[in-house]
Amino acid sequence: MSSKIYDTIIVGAGISGLSAALYTARQRMSTLVLSKDLGGQLTLTDLIENYPAVEPIGGLSLAKKVETQAKRFGAEFIYGEEVQGIEERSDGVFVIKGIKGEYLGNTVILAFGKTPRELNVPGEKEFKGKGVSYCAICDAAFFKDKPLVVVGEGEPGLEAIELSSRYANPAYYVTSSPQLAGEEELVRKVINSPNVKIFTSSKVLEIRGNSKVEEVVIRKGNGEVLTLKADGIIIEMGYVLRTEFLKGFVELNDKGEVIVDELGRTSRPGIFAAGDITQTPYKQAIIAAAEGVKAALSAYNYLRSKKGLPPVNVDWKAEKKKVSFRL
Ligand SMILES: Cc1cc2nc3c(=O)[nH]c(=O)nc-3n(C[C@H](O)[C@H](O)[C@H](O)COP(=O)(O)OP(=O)(O)OC[C@H]3O[C@@H](n4cnc5c(N)ncnc54)[C@H](O)[C@@H]3O)c2cc1C
Repeated sequence: MSSKIYDTIIVGAGISGLSAALYTARQRMSTLVLSKDLGGQLTLTDLIENYPAVEPIGGLSLAKKVETQAKRFGAEFIYGEEVQGIEERSDGVFVIKGIKGEYLGNTVILAFGKTPRELNVPGEKEFKGKGVSYCAICDAAFFKDKPLVVVGEGEPGLEAIELSSRYANPAYYVTSSPQLAGEEELVRKVINSPNVKIFTSSKVLEIRGNSKVEEVVIRKGNGEVLTLKADGIIIEMGYVLRTEFLKGFVELNDKGEVIVDELGRTSRPGIFAAGDITQTPYKQAIIAAAEGVKAALSAYNYLRSKKGLPPVNVDWKAEKKKVSFRL
C-alpha cells in the first residue's frame, strides 16, 4: 500500500469521474482516479449527439478529452483497477481496496456507474477478455470472417448482432425472447443477413475452450442442446449496478443506487457520489458530468471545513471579492 494520502480518490473514469477529476485537480487537490477502463458506458455508443456545445463525437474521444484536461491539472490515473471495498480508519482516512493494491484518501468520490450484466455460466469468467466480450461496438471488428455468438435481448441485442454481422461469419444470435422485437428496419436487416443464424427462446449453457473461447453450448427452444464452434461471444444483456460492497457503508436505495443529496454528498461524511451510480433517474452523459463537478466541489469544501476554512460557493454574482481556490 502506498503511504501517500490523496485529497481525493475517484472510483471510475466514466464521464462523471473524469469531470470530477478535472475539478478536484483544478482546485489543486491531489487526485487519484482508479478505474477498470477509460470512458465507461460512453465507449459503448457510436456517437454522442446530445452533449451541449460538442459536435457529434465518439464516446471514447469525448472521454479522452476530459482525461487530458484533468491530467493537465495533475490528476493521476490507474487503469485496470477494480475497487472491491472501502473502509474508514479511526483517523478518518479512507482505505480503498482494489484488486491491484490499496490506496488512501481523505475523501472519496464514487463514480463507478453501471457494469454489463453477466450470464453467470461456466467459462464466462475464465474467458473474459479471451473471447468473452460485453461490447459489440468495441470488439465485433476483431471477429472478421470468424464464427461469433452474440447473446442479447431487445433493441440493444439487435444492434449488437447487426453490427457483428458486418464482420463475423457466421454470426449466431441467441436470445431468450420467442421472437425478434425492435425497430422494424433493424429486425428486417438482421433476419435478411445471410451470415446470421438466429436462435430464439434459447439460452447459453456454457462457454468452452482451452486458452480462449472455442465453443458455446446453447439450449434451443425445443430443448435440444447444441454446441456452436465460435471464436468469441459478445454478451449484450444490459447493465447493472455493482454496489454490494457499499452496503452498510453508505446509504443505498432498494435498487442499490447510492443516495446523494443535491450536493453529491452520501450518508457518510467525506464520501461523495456522482453519475449513473446515484439515484438520479436521468442517466445521461451531461448529467453525470455535472454531478461529477458537484461532488468534486463538495469534496473540496469538505476538506476546507475540516481545516476550519469557510466553504467556497461558486456563485460569481454573490462573491464580491476574488476567492482563492487553494485549500
Ligand atoms: C449504449 C449506450 C448509449 C448511450 N448513449 C447516450 C447518449 O447518446 N447521450 C447521453 O447523454 N448518454 C448516453 N448514454 C448514457 C451515458 O453513457 C451514461 O449516463 C454515462 O456515461 C454515465 O457515466 P458515469 O461516469 O456515471 O458511469 P459509467 O460510464 O458507467 O462509468 C463508470 C466507470 O467506472 C469504472 N468502474 C466500474 N466499476 C468499477 C470498480 N469496481 N472499480 C473501479 N472502476 C470501476 C468503469 O470501468 C467505468 O470507467 C448511453 C449509454 C449506453 C449504455
